Amino acid sequence: LVRLRARLSRSQNSLGKGLLTLLSREHLDEDTWEEIEDTLLTADVGVAPTQDLVERLRERVRVLGTRTPQDLRALLREELLTLVGTDMDRTVHTETRGAVDRPGVALVVGVNGTGKTTTTGKLARVLVADGKSVVLAAADTFRAAAADQLETWGKRVGARTVRGPEGGDPASVAFDAVKQGTEAGADVVLIDTAGRLHTKTGLMDELGKVKRVVEKQGPVDEVLLVLDATTGQNGLVQARVFAEVVDITGIVLTKLDGTAKGGIVVAVQRELGVPVKLVGLGEGADDLAPFEPEAFVDALVG
Ligand code: GDP
Repeated sequence: LVRLRARLSRSQNSLGKGLLTLLSREHLDEDTWEEIEDTLLTADVGVAPTQDLVERLRERVRVLGTRTPQDLRALLREELLTLVGTDMDRTVHTETRGAVDRPGVALVVGVNGTGKTTTTGKLARVLVADGKSVVLAAADTFRAAAADQLETWGKRVGARTVRGPEGGDPASVAFDAVKQGTEAGADVVLIDTAGRLHTKTGLMDELGKVKRVVEKQGPVDEVLLVLDATTGQNGLVQARVFAEVVDITGIVLTKLDGTAKGGIVVAVQRELGVPVKLVGLGEGADDLAPFEPEAFVDALVG
């Protein structure tokens, strides 16, 4: 696991710095508040959260009177933390719930290209490093390359991959993986699914079926939605579609290394009412970090 703050500071810093510079202006006139609003919107914070924050900042700056740089930094840090949320359960639940005699099961969903398979591989690595035995399920049976990619990750991190015939039934691959994981006494099964969004109905049917079939063997412990942080509003539209099909329990925001638009954390949490639990910070095996609001806000404010 990489240190979140160190890896984020370069790409995210501009948001906090920009806000601090604007808040430090001698005259906080309407134009300045508009610039503050634009800065937040440009960073993908989203309209409603931006308006909330600006309103609170206005009030607090008014009460503050004199504005020292330290005061402003502390104030901004506090408000951004409130916005990001410090009281959500950000644990990735991979332990079996209840008295079910089978591994913990996590479903990984999202549009193709967002980083689903890479995230599944990275997460497997974290779990294996934690002493867990992990089985990977290649439930994207439509792209042979996707199953190959997952299997490569499996070999790399020390996890067995269960796959089916090309074009086969994704739900049966998921079912088999859980069955084999149970027989082998594995701790966790991670199911990598397909995400062809252009066939929305097909996707709904398929994902819903994967979940139902797995649930015959016990509850799914975590449903992670993988979102590409660089896709902005598009990502939010995708998120909504997936949330209609399955109950998302956590969000993984990938490619946060390649964008200064960290505000998407706030927007997507608000949209789905689900916490960001993990962030992707690069293509490498170790480039996955738990999402820590304090470290994230520190990286923003610099
Ligand atoms: P999938 O189709 O959703 O399974 O997506 P992949 O896992 O194949 O990832 C698509 C591309 O995004 C690959 O080139 C990955 O290496 C890259 N990728 C995934 N996660 C990250 C990340 O956190 N940062 C960066 N920079 N690239 C990533």
